[in-house]
Amino acid sequence: MKIKLLWLVPPLLFLAFFLLFFKGSAPEHIFLITLDTTRADAIDYATTGNACTPNLAALAAAGRHYENAYTVIPITLPSHAAMFYSLPPHVLKLYNNGQERAIPYPSLAEIMKKNGYATGAVISLSVLKRNFGLARGFDHFLENFKPGLWYKTAAEVNRDAFALIDKMKGKKSFIWIHYSDPHEPYCPPGPQERFTVFLGGTLLHSSPSIEEQVLRLPLALKPGENSIRLHCEIPAFLRESRAFTAVSYADLKITPRDPRAPLTMSYSPDLVRRSERYGRITFNTKENESYLSIVNKGTAPCLADLGFKFMIKTTDEARRTGYANEVRYMDSQIGLLLARLKKEGIFEKSTFLVMGDHGEGLGEYNSHFGHIHYLNKIYTHVPFFISGKNIRGGEVRANPLGPDRRHAAQTHGRYQCHGRFFRSQAFLGDLLSRGLFRRLLGTPFPLAGHFLSGAPR
Ligand SMILES: [Zn+2]
Repeated sequence: MKIKLLWLVPPLLFLAFFLLFFKGSAPEHIFLITLDTTRADAIDYATTGNACTPNLAALAAAGRHYENAYTVIPITLPSHAAMFYSLPPHVLKLYNNGQERAIPYPSLAEIMKKNGYATGAVISLSVLKRNFGLARGFDHFLENFKPGLWYKTAAEVNRDAFALIDKMKGKKSFIWIHYSDPHEPYCPPGPQERFTVFLGGTLLHSSPSIEEQVLRLPLALKPGENSIRLHCEIPAFLRESRAFTAVSYADLKITPRDPRAPLTMSYSPDLVRRSERYGRITFNTKENESYLSIVNKGTAPCLADLGFKFMIKTTDEARRTGYANEVRYMDSQIGLLLARLKKEGIFEKSTFLVMGDHGEGLGEYNSHFGHIHYLNKIYTHVPFFISGKNIRGGEVRANPLGPDRRHAAQTHGRYQCHGRFFRSQAFLGDLLSRGLFRRLLGTPFPLAGHFLSGAPR
């Protein structure tokens, strides 16, 4: 009899092993999705009817939604750094975009990598490029931008994210996907009206006219007069809604490669001079076609660069509508990402961390649009929810820290005076290391508590 039952031992051992190690095991994939410039109140958590952001709402409803999450600083780079290092800006000594700083702490990506996760990132704003410190610990860091552009649309982010997911297939992975469509310019991709620049009859530049661009165009100028034609097709929906106010050419300057080259420039009468700074002139016009005339007084051709920032200006109401449309567009693209993950059987094995980096002023204070300059709630209140594998659905909590508050206060006593940090991104890393990985993902995450309390390397 005993011998007959022996055949049961291997499957029972397997079952015991399975229950021990796979029930509540850590997710195979962890997606950190950051929503740039997305106000907490821009997400519509309704999951029925004509919800504005049905994909994010469904993901939040299936998980745990923290209602009172605040950024520690409403600026993209330091805000993301707070997530990745779980430290506030004054400790990181990182206060603005553009600061290149070697941060002497382990980053979230490095810790994930150390714990067996392959790591990959797709960013959509150039202020997060690898030289600014967040690429450390990532096996793959996709920061490809179109020439002259500093942002990527959500469709372009998805294109890169899909390639990354394919590349990392079969591996445990930690993937950061950064969407930034709600950031200015407030205009989702749509009809591709063009902005074109001609030198004489030669096309120098062509791009969708809704793209805000900093252009630097090389010019070969013949002796005598050279005519430059700036042609902007105003998108029909802006004309029709009377939302268009002006075309702006900001900081326009012609710079000869040889400073001795005798160049003079004049402008067509429609270009209304708004300001001049360091020899760079800002013009507005209501016309869709404007001219610059550059006279080369020398006897030989000369090379020069024409630099300016091009923008279509609209009414405040149109900007608010544009912002809302961008949030909708971003949500629809996140829907495509999630659909792809479901189709490939990745979704069920994944946990999603979704968080904003800061909000956005839409004219409420001092008619201000944008972020960076103020700390009012609209600039600092951000969406934050966790969903997917091992996360119980339908939970709404006021505080991201929850039961870990006491622990955090003990560990990070020196920051207690900055109470907001306890409800903010500075705790994402900490939440992952102590709370989330231990309690929600079903496995301890062996960190040494080095986010806020650790010594610099
Ligand atoms: Zn940002």
